[in-house]
Amino acid sequence: MAAQETVEHKYVYDFAEGNKDLKDLLGGKGANLAEMTNLGLPVPPGFTITTEACKAYLDTGVEPAGLADQIAAHLAALEREMGRRLGDPDDPLLVSVRSGAKFSMPGMMETVLNVGLNDRSVEGLARQAGGSTDQAASGGSTDQAASGGADRFAWDSYRRLIQMFGKTVCEVPGEEFEQALDEAKRARGTTDDLDLDADDLRGLVDAYKKIFSKHTGREFPQEPREQLDLAVRAVFASWNAERAVVYRRQERIPADLGTAVNVVAMVFGNLGPDSGTGVAFTRDPASGAQGIYGDYLANAQGEDVVAGIRNTVPLQELERIDKHSYDELLDYMARLERHYRDLCDIEFTIERGKLWMLQTRVGKRTAAAAFVIAGQLIDEGLIDLDEALHRVNGAQLAQLMFPRFQLDHGFPPVATGIGASPGAAVGKVVFTSARAVELAGEGEAVILVRRETNPDDLSGMIAARGILTSRGGKTSHAAVVARGMGKTCVSGADKLDIDVPKRRFTVAGKTVTEGDVVSIDGTTGKVYLGEVPATPSEVVRYFEGELDPSATDDALVRAVHRIMSHADTVRTLAVRTNADTAADAARARRFGAGGIGLCRTEHMFLGDRRELVERLILAREPDERESALAALLPLQRADFVEIFREMDGLPVTVRLIDPPLHEFLPPLEQLAVDVAVAQERGEDVAKEEALLAAVRRMHEENPMLGLRGVRLGLVIPGLFAMQVRAITEAAVECARQGVRSCPEIMVPLVGAVQELETVRAEAERIIADVAGGSDVEVLIGTMIEVPRAALTAGQIAEAAEFFSFGTNDLTQMGWGFSRDDVEGAFFWRYLELGIFGISPFESIDADGIGRLVRIAAEEGRAARPGLKLGVCGEHGGDPDSVHFFHSVGLDYVSCSPFRVPVARLEAGRAAVITTGSDSR
Ligand code: PEP
Ligand code: MG
Repeated sequence: MAAQETVEHKYVYDFAEGNKDLKDLLGGKGANLAEMTNLGLPVPPGFTITTEACKAYLDTGVEPAGLADQIAAHLAALEREMGRRLGDPDDPLLVSVRSGAKFSMPGMMETVLNVGLNDRSVEGLARQAGGSTDQAASGGSTDQAASGGADRFAWDSYRRLIQMFGKTVCEVPGEEFEQALDEAKRARGTTDDLDLDADDLRGLVDAYKKIFSKHTGREFPQEPREQLDLAVRAVFASWNAERAVVYRRQERIPADLGTAVNVVAMVFGNLGPDSGTGVAFTRDPASGAQGIYGDYLANAQGEDVVAGIRNTVPLQELERIDKHSYDELLDYMARLERHYRDLCDIEFTIERGKLWMLQTRVGKRTAAAAFVIAGQLIDEGLIDLDEALHRVNGAQLAQLMFPRFQLDHGFPPVATGIGASPGAAVGKVVFTSARAVELAGEGEAVILVRRETNPDDLSGMIAARGILTSRGGKTSHAAVVARGMGKTCVSGADKLDIDVPKRRFTVAGKTVTEGDVVSIDGTTGKVYLGEVPATPSEVVRYFEGELDPSATDDALVRAVHRIMSHADTVRTLAVRTNADTAADAARARRFGAGGIGLCRTEHMFLGDRRELVERLILAREPDERESALAALLPLQRADFVEIFREMDGLPVTVRLIDPPLHEFLPPLEQLAVDVAVAQERGEDVAKEEALLAAVRRMHEENPMLGLRGVRLGLVIPGLFAMQVRAITEAAVECARQGVRSCPEIMVPLVGAVQELETVRAEAERIIADVAGGSDVEVLIGTMIEVPRAALTAGQIAEAAEFFSFGTNDLTQMGWGFSRDDVEGAFFWRYLELGIFGISPFESIDADGIGRLVRIAAEEGRAARPGLKLGVCGEHGGDPDSVHFFHSVGLDYVSCSPFRVPVARLEAGRAAVITTGSDSR
């Protein structure tokens, strides 16, 4: 029975056995080496030890059963194929042992080269290298010179092995090897490694071996198989090296993938002038332009290129140096690109005129290159439009929508904050919203600098080119509002010492006063003094309708147009916008929004109207309240008429007022001080005292969990009624003017169906009263943003024609994280610990908050088939979250105008990309 169960698990794959789709098992490098091997390209023979073997080793601390034998069998096959044996004293085979995880983690894990060299085989390597050089050098070098070069090469290879092996496998401090190397150079009177001859290197090998045994208590292993096994283990272990762990966290690469290990026959680019090494790209990874891009370094190994010890030459030079290899390389590049149907990047080595392909992968590229290349690949018939959606993503599109600073501008940053809303903004510093409006009105570009912003800064934020704060994270008020407007914002630049009354800030020992010019980069979070040169986005000009894609010769704009149009035809998720002004609505419509998913009506109560709201909230007598409401009604109606007009024919979700009270009342402490000072002076402060008493009465310790949303509507008689009336009257007025409005009234912060029922009953009466007999139709629905609402969605759906998930509050209340505070306060630690890889306010926490969304969607639809479902929290414009909402089956996402194109693209991608495929 036992014998039947032990079907041996396969841990080792020859290159000929794998393919590019086995990245999970063979890692990216191994899978692509296998693919090239199978394409018939000249890949040095080798095999891959799987990620499963790595995981088993990391779990148990020992190699899994069967691995050693499988390695032995594959090694024997490799030796047969190469006609050489590992450790052979006459003609040794050498191998490299390289890591290769599913996702590229450049430089994060270990590699050991030249495995197989020992005191005897080094001589054999020298003889072989010398012998072959004799044959290769037809004329030119003498035998003596050739064998001198060959000796040098062999001893240099050996000392590199001891150094790399010592460092990576046995944790010998690298500096000691460096010191010994420096000493050898000093003795030779040089600073250049290349001046060391074979004897120097032989001496260095002795010195290295002493260092090795001093630290490990043993001799440098002479047995090649032992070298190989120890190197494999070291590569496995490097998966958990600290730098690899940190990198994974940053790149959101799962921690449990493990790395594969590639054991590859060594080829040498450092055997003389007819050898060399290089990298090549099939298209320009910066611009996407077609052509030959890359670098070549003669007589060198790959590590010399990486170390930047000597200068490379452009790849085109290879044509002159070695035309045969060059032509062959070009042919392989074309084949690889046709095969992968994408930009490939390649590493190659030429060993004495023979080209070897050491690595290929789908190459990284800039955002612009991604679109341009996708467009070219469609033109070339290599991919169709669906596949083009795999080649680009929303993050790249977002990058292209912002103006950017020119590269190499040479300005040093004076502070770095959080890149809260991307783009490049330059302008004169102002410290108050009013001053921002004033100077912008005079045609000046301004940067609004505040410690933090609040809703009262809105007009200043609109007027400014960019916003710079010294406090707050990525979901601070400044960040959220700026992203919504597509305005550049750097938040939390805590080196800035801002003195608003004196209208100045100090940073890095410099004082910047109102009117001085600064430049801020909302992508990197960097702040510069002076005017850094910037370029506007042609992609935004296209979305704005200023650039005709059929008339421009801008390849980027044409590609964006084509891909976006296709995303629109395939997506099942509609994209709406969050907008509360006619201007935002109009822009969002130009950007492709199919309606408004969230009109936050409290934003209509700022500025001059603030005082009316204050009166309303603080009113103790019905007539005070009614007069405030009566004054607000026509203003609201006019707001809605304007918005409905802009969105003619499209749905507009108007959310009833939802202000946390503290945003509308004067700050308690300030008011108390003002009143005390006035009393001291003997002034008549009866009114202020009443206000202070009222503010004290209404004061809340936790305003975000206090009297807001539906609670406010239930407590202040007439407030919601006024809004419902204004919405319905606006719809009726629009209908009269031939404008088709489709209002959807949304009740915020509902936690129980009874709340919604109460509001609904009153709203229905008003709608019937105002619109009865007309063909105006008004839907009534609710936000799902309190966890209890999600969990009782079946009940709530009975009273709601639609749900819109308010994932900002759902995250706040689901996690118990104050959305205004936590990111700046402690998220850094949570990110560091890997508790989450990204702020849950930025990208939906699919396991927790997402589960609430899923439950509510399912139970809501079960109770009311056809229930319309959308999301209007910040997550509606986040690429990963859009894919999640698509998978839940929502009808639409709603996001700020500037993110509408990103959401359209991601919704299209979500429709064609099956979960878990190449969305990275
Ligand atoms: C939300 O909570 O997700 C939402 C959209 O409402 P607000 O951000 O206005 O609280
Ligand atoms: Mg909310």
